Amino acid sequence: MQTLKLASDKFFKVVDGCKFEVCCPESGAAALVDRLARDFWQVAVRVTEGGAKAAPDCDEGYTISVSATKTVLIAKTLRGIRHALFTLRQLAESERGVATSRASFILPCVAIDDMPALAFRGIHLCFFPPPETMYAAIERQIRLAAYFKFNHVVIEPWGSLRYPSHPEFSWPNHSISSGEFRRLVRLAKELGLTPVPKVNIFGHASAARSHNGKHTLLDFHPEFAPLFEPDGWCWCLSNPATRTFLEGLVKDLLEIFDNPSFFHLGCDEAGDGTCAICRRANYPALLKDHLLHCHALLTKHGARPMVWHDMFVEKGDKHCTRYVACGTPGTVSILDDLPKNFVVCDWRCNLADNDRRTGEPSWATLRYFIDKGFDTLGCPWYDIANTLAFGRGVRKYGAMGMHETTWLVKRSRHVYEEFAIAAWAT
Ligand SMILES: [Zn+2]
Repeated sequence: MQTLKLASDKFFKVVDGCKFEVCCPESGAAALVDRLARDFWQVAVRVTEGGAKAAPDCDEGYTISVSATKTVLIAKTLRGIRHALFTLRQLAESERGVATSRASFILPCVAIDDMPALAFRGIHLCFFPPPETMYAAIERQIRLAAYFKFNHVVIEPWGSLRYPSHPEFSWPNHSISSGEFRRLVRLAKELGLTPVPKVNIFGHASAARSHNGKHTLLDFHPEFAPLFEPDGWCWCLSNPATRTFLEGLVKDLLEIFDNPSFFHLGCDEAGDGTCAICRRANYPALLKDHLLHCHALLTKHGARPMVWHDMFVEKGDKHCTRYVACGTPGTVSILDDLPKNFVVCDWRCNLADNDRRTGEPSWATLRYFIDKGFDTLGCPWYDIANTLAFGRGVRKYGAMGMHETTWLVKRSRHVYEEFAIAAWAT
């Protein structure tokens, strides 16, 4: 349940020595409040540990009680306490009626019970090679994700990472080391986010957007052409050297991300193989073997694979005309042979016109994958109506959660706010 009540017309002053009481069975809650108060308001608060109190029945839920003399925070976990502090940061105003103010803020006296509607709230961040995405910008996006109470952050390097196994799979002079990348992973964890790596193991093999015609590997190393289909868009699945190369990338990311619980394998907007070998092969069998091999590698390291959904819906499927479908009869046929711990990411950037009129799409693809037994995530982009409708659809059909996409940084600022409403509000 989510409630917010104004308790009085008074304010609590957030200044040095102001009183906070924290009630949380996990150790470190008082230290967390102390640290975040310094970060947010540059004040040294006085934190006392309260006794056991009834906390919201949700790991990420929290209760806030602000009076004129004390602020009390209650949660079952440190994640709940952190969310409570982010809410207070959103509510706080600088001291009023003065010319300047430092380390002095006010909070309204409120009583808040809050918890997320969806358990999985992810965001996909694109780290395009600098200067398109500067290091500070990706760090800012990670901090914003935490501030808006996401709990998973997928980071896709797009050639910005010098892989230890294959440094050539990055842009010369426009990439960062694995050590610098590891710092982003640590930052995400410190902010309460679960970091998730992503590398495309099927289509989007160029690690560059299609409209700019670049190819992260082949532009500087054309000798690697045998690893790709002739147009460079998909990896060549009939070449054993492709698997060896990709294993290197995957293992690097598993190490940099400190054995993550999820690993995004991409797989969107891909097509059948076209090279001299693949076009004669049983391509669905090649693809299935490729996915199962990646699955086994990830399972060995404790990670669940995530994949975009569109190759599993046949292009032209009359039941899914308003949804993204890039599959062939062959790629669609392998879905039933995949282990059910694959997480299917059902993406749709915009509402179709018919759905915009009603605001309640049928979510044919979402329901399809749920009915097949897969944990499924609803993945919107910047269309506000689509994002909010996705949130309702995910809750209505019992999907695993939501996974926001960003793609173009310039449009990404407001997706945080809309997604937070769609994924957190009940
Ligand atoms: Zn091929």
